[in-house]
Amino acid sequence: MQLFDRISESGHEELLVYSDVSVGLKAFISIHDTTLGPACGGTRIWPYDSEEAALDDVLNLSRAMTYKSSIADISLGGGKAVIIADPQVKKNEAFLRSFGQFVDTLHGRYLTTADVGTNTDDLICISQETKHVVGLPLSQGGSGDTSIMTGLGVYMGMKACAQASWGSDSLEGKTIAMQGFGKVAYNTALLLLKENAHIVATDISPAAINKAEALGIRTVPTEEIYGVNCDIFSPNALGGVLNTETIELLNCEIIAGGANNQLLNEFISECLYKKSILYAPDYVINAGGIINASCEIGASYSSERSREKTEKIYDIMTDIINVANQEEITTSKAADTLAENRINSVKSVKRIYRGESHTTDR
Ligand code: NAD
Repeated sequence: MQLFDRISESGHEELLVYSDVSVGLKAFISIHDTTLGPACGGTRIWPYDSEEAALDDVLNLSRAMTYKSSIADISLGGGKAVIIADPQVKKNEAFLRSFGQFVDTLHGRYLTTADVGTNTDDLICISQETKHVVGLPLSQGGSGDTSIMTGLGVYMGMKACAQASWGSDSLEGKTIAMQGFGKVAYNTALLLLKENAHIVATDISPAAINKAEALGIRTVPTEEIYGVNCDIFSPNALGGVLNTETIELLNCEIIAGGANNQLLNEFISECLYKKSILYAPDYVINAGGIINASCEIGASYSSERSREKTEKIYDIMTDIINVANQEEITTSKAADTLAENRINSVKSVKRIYRGESHTTDR
């Protein structure tokens, strides 16, 4: 599909391209929808195979952010940034500050935070050039590492699915197969271990494997994770991992993880439905990070408020399962509809105030 057709079809408002040859920076910022508030989403640094792959990612991820903030009842829109680079090789002060200048050109229409390949130290660097950064460390007046609340939200989402599937939300004795053992998986795992769940994990990074094994977690080679006999399969690495091939290998009743855009496409959600695997829509249960970041906007940050809001992911996931069951639709469809309903209702209010509505008296 041509780029402009794709953007208009998916409702994106803006796509920005930035290149700074002096530091080898190639970045995209995508603003999907700002009906509910300024676009917000993390900056991903990843060695994409092609510019098209990076473009695809930034468009998909920014759209998911719109839905995520909507369903989590946050007044933020959807945006995302991707930088084409290997974070282990390229990331340095000049590189990050150059990116900060790019973010600053948007004057707050886009707020950035951490994602795969970026951390709070990087955010401090970016914030030397722009104030439009959330998720800075607590010592710098921010809300801290977003992955702690993201981990909590994933855990709450798993519990809501457990309640719906097994009549109890206890995860004691349940086996969870975790693909990717980075920041989010680690924080989810701490809560699961506290509840005496069994975890099997994999990662491509030896450092991440060491981190899992230090917690007493059994690890397996990356290609074996799909076939692990488990109760919950939890994708916590990159997107697109649920496709026609991988879902045939799965041996689980629930899929619930933190990774963004886990489904390769909408068809996969139908396939999971037919296989009676309960899928927790990724953007619903991984909203803890954006909830946390939203708690530092417009008010001083309170971790209690953030925790309370993040724990509501349990109720949101339960509502989605109920709607899906009642209407005999997939959980993805149910979540999308609920998220779109909120955005459309706010859009219609905005139209009324701009005098554009055809429904008001003249
Ligand atoms: P991270 O970089 O800390 O962790 C990702 C891990 O996945 C890394 O350890 C990496 O080595 C591993 N990995 C990559 N490819 C893999 C593969 N093929 N097989 C196994 N492991 C692989 O990132 P994170 O912050 O933990 O984020 C993980 C996912 O959650 C991402 O999709 C991110 O977009 C999403 N997410 C993160 C947050 C947050 O607060 N950090 C919030 C919402 C969603």
